[in-house]
Amino acid sequence: MSTRVIAGDCTVTYTSDDETQTQRGHVVALCKPDDTVLVHDAAGYRPAAWLTRPAELTVNEDPLWLVAVDGDESLHVEAEGPVALRDHNTTAAGVPVGDCPCDGRLVRSSGAVACLACDADYPLPGGATVLEAACDDCGLPRIGVERGEPFEVCLDYDCESLLSAVRDRFDGEWSCPACDGDLEILRRGGLIAGCEGYPDCETGFAIPDGTVVADCDCGLPVFETSSGRRCLDSTCEV
Ligand SMILES: [Zn+2]
Ligand SMILES: [Zn+2]
Ligand SMILES: [Zn+2]
Ligand SMILES: [Zn+2]
Repeated sequence: MSTRVIAGDCTVTYTSDDETQTQRGHVVALCKPDDTVLVHDAAGYRPAAWLTRPAELTVNEDPLWLVAVDGDESLHVEAEGPVALRDHNTTAAGVPVGDCPCDGRLVRSSGAVACLACDADYPLPGGATVLEAACDDCGLPRIGVERGEPFEVCLDYDCESLLSAVRDRFDGEWSCPACDGDLEILRRGGLIAGCEGYPDCETGFAIPDGTVVADCDCGLPVFETSSGRRCLDSTCEV
């Protein structure tokens, strides 16, 4: 993923349905891998002009001009003299959480752990904590996650899956409140406890991030979560 850096004397025009703002100066424009364009001048942290994830971005290198368009908004940057243009390799920035088997650093950002050196990218289950311990099989960090009780599995789902761990523990543990069949542990995006009678019975509940601490009057378990106690059935009043 590369970020393009353009620096020089430019005229910058931002247009929306009710305003047009033209500025000129020696600026630095950044074009991020998601096409976000930020134009910085000398002062402060705030860009002088920007367009976040525009629907369209066109860059012409010689002469240098750039047009980003998103709905009613557009941002136009045009060089008024020589400009420097360079592409730099960039990655997500995140909290360092350990090492990749490739020896690169792993960082955690927005729900995933990615390696700064190779393409490895591992989505994290909601509420997961990356642990110090490494997996004996692949060397990646292990993660801790609560789904009824605390589980510890490898960061790589293909190496050791949270689904099998939770299934081993809770498959058939709870009964369907609609038909009394067993609830099976399944993966539908996140983990759910779904009725074995499917498709005749469509009862299913997303398993909350928390631990089972009691039984609800409805027969399902009650979870202690970071936002308080709740029944497996989120519509049930505990
Ligand atoms: Zn790596
Ligand atoms: Zn592993
Ligand atoms: Zn059922
Ligand atoms: Zn309940």
